[in-house]
Amino acid sequence: MKSNDLTVIAVAPNRWQVSALEDVLAAAQRVGGSAQARFGCLLLGHPEPERERLALEAGACTVWTLDPGEADAEDYEMWAAVALAALESSQLWSTPRRVVLLPPGAAGEELCARIAAGNGSVAAGRCEDIRVLDGQLQFDREGWGGRLSLSLITAANDLCACLRADKPSYPGRRMEARLMPLEHEPAPRPQRQIEYRETSEKLPPIESVKTLVCGGRGVNEAGFALLERLAEALDGSLAGSLPAVDAGMVPAYRQVGVSGKFVRPDVYFAVGVSGTPQHLAGISADTRIVALNSDPEAPIFRVADVGVVNDWETILPALLEALGPG
Ligand SMILES: Cc1cc2nc3c(=O)[nH]c(=O)nc-3n(C[C@H](O)[C@H](O)[C@H](O)COP(=O)(O)OP(=O)(O)OC[C@H]3O[C@@H](n4cnc5c(N)ncnc54)[C@H](O)[C@@H]3O)c2cc1C
Repeated sequence: MKSNDLTVIAVAPNRWQVSALEDVLAAAQRVGGSAQARFGCLLLGHPEPERERLALEAGACTVWTLDPGEADAEDYEMWAAVALAALESSQLWSTPRRVVLLPPGAAGEELCARIAAGNGSVAAGRCEDIRVLDGQLQFDREGWGGRLSLSLITAANDLCACLRADKPSYPGRRMEARLMPLEHEPAPRPQRQIEYRETSEKLPPIESVKTLVCGGRGVNEAGFALLERLAEALDGSLAGSLPAVDAGMVPAYRQVGVSGKFVRPDVYFAVGVSGTPQHLAGISADTRIVALNSDPEAPIFRVADVGVVNDWETILPALLEALGPG
C-alpha cells in the first residue's frame, strides 16, 4: 500500500479530557505507521492552542478545527453532526480509503457509531488493530465477550473505529504541517420531545455493579422476587436472559446477551439460565460465574466457576435465610 492510498483522521471534541485526544493521536500514529500513511486531526469545539500543539507535535500533517459554539461534552448528537459536517469537506480527503478514529471508551464508541451511521462508513467499533493488507482495510475485534478474536476484512473504503494504543510519541511538528480552521454553519437540530420520568427502581444499572444476579427461563415470578432480594442483599443488581425479558420478569434494559447488554461484574449468579452462546456473549470472560441449574448437563456448567445442581425453589430461600435480614 502506498502512503497516498489511505487517510487517517483522528477526531476529538475539545470538551473531552485531553487524555482522549492523546489516546486518539496514539491510535492514529499506530494505524498511520502500519499503513505508511499520514494522519490528520480534527479538533471540534472552542479552539484550544495547547491541543492543537499536541496534535501537531504528534506528527499530524493537518490539524483542522471547527467550532460549533456552546455544547455539552455528552451531547453526542451535536458532536456527531459537527464531525459529519467537517468530514464531508473535500479538503480532508485526498485518498480513496479513509479511516476515522475516535477516542477509545464509551463516549468515543457512541460517536463512532453515530458518525458511521451518518456517512455510511463501516462501524468497526472497539478494535484491537487496524491495518491495510492487499489494498483492503482489515480490523481485529473481540467477539462473544472476549472469548473470540475476530479478524475482519471489508471491501468498503471508509472505516470508523476506536482503537486503544499506547501513549502517543511527540516527534515534533512536520515541516509541511498546518493548522486549518473549517467554516461550518451548524445544521438545525431535530426537535425532539423528551419526557423525563422518575424511576421507582431500587436496583442500580446492571453495567455498574460488582455482583449481578441473573434469572433465566427456569425461574418464575416468585423466583424473580427472591432474586431481587438476593441482589439487594449482595449490594448488586438484577438481570435476565432474553426469555425472562420476553416473559416480563425484568425490563429489556436489564437483558444480558448479544442483543442485550454487555456486563463485566466480578461475580455473576446465573439462576435457571442454560448458558447459550447468545447469553454468554454478554458476560465478560473475566467474570466469575456461579450457576444454579436443576439440569446437570446444562451448558452453563462448562463455563461456571462454581456450579450448584438443584432447584432454585430449594436453594434461593435457604441462601436468603443464610444471608440474614438485609
Ligand atoms: C439473534 C439472537 C439473539 C439473542 N440474544 C439473546 C440475548 O441477548 N440474551 C439471551 O439471554 N438470549 C438471547 N437469545 C436467545 C438464546 O438463544 C436462548 O434462547 C436464551 O439465552 C435462553 O435463555 P435461558 O437460558 O433463560 O432459557 P433456557 O435455555 O430455556 O434455559 C432455562 C434453564 O433453566 C433450567 N431450569 C429449569 N427449571 C429450573 C429450576 N426449577 N431450578 C433451576 N434451574 C431450572 C433449565 O435446566 C435450563 O437450563 C438470542 C437468540 C438469537 C437467535
